[in-house]
Order: sequence, then C-alpha cells, then structure tokens
Amino acid sequence: MGLKNPEWYRESLRDGRVTYIAGESVPDVTKNEWFDVAIANTAEDYVYDDPATRDIRVYETEEGELAHRIFKVPTSVEDLEKRIQLSHMTSISTAVSAVLMALYNIKGQVAQVNGQYAENIERMYKHCRDNDLRADQCITDAKGDRSRHPKDQDDPDLYMRILDKNADGIVVRGAKLHISGASLVHEQTVMPTKAMGPGEEQWSVSFSIPTNAPGVKIINRAYAHPNLSEMDYPISAKHNAPEGFVVFDDVFVPWDRVFLAGEYQLAGVLARSLGLWERVGGLIALVERSRLLVGTAQLLCEMNGINKASHIQEKISDLVFYAEMLRMSLESAVRNYKVTETGMVYPDPMAVNVGKFYGANNWHSMVQKIHDMSGGLVLTLPTEADYRNEEITKTLNKYLHTKKDVRVEDRMRVYNLIRDLTADAYGGWELVTTIAAGGGLAAQRIVTMGGYDLEGAKDQARMAAGITGGH
Ligand SMILES: Cc1cc2nc3c(=O)[nH]c(=O)nc-3n(C[C@H](O)[C@H](O)[C@H](O)COP(=O)(O)OP(=O)(O)OC[C@H]3O[C@@H](n4cnc5c(N)ncnc54)[C@H](O)[C@@H]3O)c2cc1C
Repeated sequence: MGLKNPEWYRESLRDGRVTYIAGESVPDVTKNEWFDVAIANTAEDYVYDDPATRDIRVYETEEGELAHRIFKVPTSVEDLEKRIQLSHMTSISTAVSAVLMALYNIKGQVAQVNGQYAENIERMYKHCRDNDLRADQCITDAKGDRSRHPKDQDDPDLYMRILDKNADGIVVRGAKLHISGASLVHEQTVMPTKAMGPGEEQWSVSFSIPTNAPGVKIINRAYAHPNLSEMDYPISAKHNAPEGFVVFDDVFVPWDRVFLAGEYQLAGVLARSLGLWERVGGLIALVERSRLLVGTAQLLCEMNGINKASHIQEKISDLVFYAEMLRMSLESAVRNYKVTETGMVYPDPMAVNVGKFYGANNWHSMVQKIHDMSGGLVLTLPTEADYRNEEITKTLNKYLHTKKDVRVEDRMRVYNLIRDLTADAYGGWELVTTIAAGGGLAAQRIVTMGGYDLEGAKDQARMAAGITGGH
C-alpha cells in the first residue's frame, strides 16, 4: 500500500507478461532496449520526493493517504488546474491511468443498472490508487468492416466479446488496438469502443485484468529506435512509449473485476466516460507543441537571416495565431468549467472539442509552414556522428555557417528538432496521432454540433432578417 518508487516500478514489470516488439518475444521488458526510454519516463512519475513536483504529483485521498494525482477526481478549479499542470510532467503510461478516475466518476450511473459492477469499479479504482499501479485504456476494437454492427462481422471477435459466463467469472476474446503504454502498465482496463444495442449483449463488456493474466498478449510498435542520439533526435531520444495491440485469447476474468457483462444499455455510458479527458490531454499537448513550433521557427529564421522577410513574418504570425487560439481554448475550457451531479469539476466540453478539433485540423498546415521556412537541411543535415568525425567537422563548420553569433552545432540542433518533430518517424507519428487520438475529427464534430445552440443562432438570424412568426 502507499506511494512506491522508481525501483519498485521497474521490478513490478518483471511479472511474466507476454509481450513482443520488432518481431521478437520479450521475456523481460526491463532488459529490452526498445523499452528503455519508455520505462525511464514512467519510472520518473514515481519520484515523489522532489519538492519541485511533489505538490502537483501527490494528493491526499479522502482516507488521508497519499496517492498519485492521476487518480484524483477534480472537485475544484484548483484541482483542475493542477491536473493540467500534471499533464505537462507525466509520461503517457501514467496519464492513461486516468481511466480509473473516469470510471469511478460514473459508478453512480453504473449502479442504477448493476450495483455489483459499481462496487467492482470502486474496488479496482482504490486497488490501483492505493497500490500506486498504472492502468491503460483498452477501448478501440479492431472493428472489421466499419459499416457493420459487431454481430454482423465476418468474425465475431472483431469486437471484444464474452465467450462464456460461469459461477466464477467470464471468459473474453478479442483485441484492443493502438493501446498507449500497454506493456508498461499493471492493469489492462477494457471498455466498449461504442454504444451497443439489443442483440449485442456479448459485445457489451468491460473489466480490468492484470497485464500478466493468462491469455493476454501484447504486440508493440514504437516510433523511436533504441539508443537514438539526443542531438539528432532531441524529442524522440528522450520521450517515447510503444503502443500495443492487446490480444485477449480466451482470458478468464473473475466476477469481482467485471464492470459490464451483457447489459448493453451501459456500453455507451462506459464508452463515453473517458472521451472528454482524452481530448483534454490532446488539447494540452497541442498547446505545448504549438508554442514549440513558434519558438523553433523564429529561432531558425533568425539563425538563417530571413526573420525580417515579410513572407516569413507572415508565416510566423500564422503560427502565433494558431498557438494562441489553442492556449485560449484551454484557458476558456478551465474558466468555464462544469460540475457533474457527483461533484466532479470538468473543463467546458465545447471549448475542449473546438480547441482539439481546430488544433488537429490545422496541425498539418502549420507543419507545412515550418517546412517552407526551413529548406532542405531538415532532411539532408549530416548526423551527430558526422559532426563528431574530425575529418568532417571543419567542413560542416564551414558550409553550415550563417553568421558569427550562430554556432553551427546550435543550428544543427534546431534543424534536428524540426526534423524530429515534423519530418521523421516521430513527426509522422504526430501527424497521425494528432488526428486519431481522442476519436478522430468526426467525433469532435459530433460533440460540438450536439452542444452548439443552433436554435439560438437561428433566432438571431430571424431577428436580423426581420422574420416574425413562422419559419
Ligand atoms: C498513437 C495512438 C495512440 C492511441 N492510443 C489509444 C489508447 O490508448 N486506447 C485506445 O483505446 N485507443 C487508442 N488509439 C486509437 C484511437 O482512439 C483511434 O485510432 C481512433 O479512435 C480512430 O479509430 P480507428 O483507428 O479504428 O480508425 P477508424 O475508426 O477506422 O477511422 C478512420 C475513418 O473512418 C471513419 N469511420 C469509422 N467508422 C465509421 C462508420 N461506421 N461510419 C462512417 N465513418 C466511419 C472515421 O470517422 C475516420 O474518418 C490510439 C491511436 C493512436 C494513433
């Protein structure tokens, strides 16, 4: 019980979990170089004695114990603000553990259908919170032919389903795809990918199971190769976390870990519980990255002597507009917070969805602007190894020179930042993740249009047009 430490975290991963990366089985993730950076980042979240981060990272539970703030259900604006600060200093494998907080917050709705499930949610939440465990968010199903319901797919396992129920628990089969941090957490927390209807009872399933449970198998993909140079890859050498296909081959789940097993009317409630928080996470990341784009572009243009050119100033100001719109969306989301019946304080969904949509929909064109300002060195700049090779250093210092007060090594670092962030493996990951994470652009359109006061807008148009009565 209680807060753990980085050594404990590393040791806890040596539990016989079945996981693969780059075509090979990984008997011990702590000894596999593909996971080094991701494990180091997650272990950092277990550092609780640093005065600089402790107040944000730790909170006191209702029972008076200390726990990681990722489990805190926000009940004040201060909580919300601390949660946002926490996002800036937390690895993805810890961030996804918010799934338990989101589930805990809807236990009242779950209890209306099945009190036992609600008790199970509360027990699992407290089990993870009090033992400082991490849990991922296994939501996205394989989904097969998107135009068909789960029951009409060629293979019924394309959506996670219940194979069998008995006195002790349920047996499940299926796969959840693209799961962030899957091999780095202690619990695989499964929720339906969408609402289900009558006849879809077997696909209405939610539970949490330890990562090393028999039948659980994870196939990972990472965007960053091991041992990258920090000069060549300033972001992805220090931050990465493989995503995984989490496969459930006839996995037994005891009843006390089941949150849903057949009551289709709860599938939508569970599926929706996390959406807002995922998009808040996406928006926070966009706020951070958009500012980084502005700074990087400005720095490079100053180094290259083009910062006074009018077309450059226009592009930089476009980046600034983008960054400021995102910053203001987040600020507005917090300022116009809402409160649930259970007392949870959450950011304004309209501001979150509009901000996340705007950020994701325009990220690609912001990347285009920075590429236009950067030129070909984004792709052809020699590596750190070349620069450190004495036979080449002099040549690079000569031909990469722009002006006296710009060190060539610094200029190379800025180009590498642009390459890593926008034009190499991590940059490609960003392009796709910005769109897909949190449910794709269509999902944000649905929430935004559902929340927008269209009738009020029509009334305004009627008044402006001088229409009284009728349409
Ligand atoms: C890096 C990364 C990390 C992720 N982490 C997680 C995670 O931790 N947990 C998790 O559960 N998921 C995670 N995801 C998955 C993410 O939520 C999904 O990628 C996203 O919801 C889109 O689903 P999909 O990939 O199946 O694409 P699809 O659903 O195939 O969407 C592709 C397109 O098809 C459209 N479409 C789909 N179905 C229909 C339909 N019935 N009718 C009309 N149009 C349709 C969509 O609107 C979209 O335009 C992650 C994804 C990425 C890229």
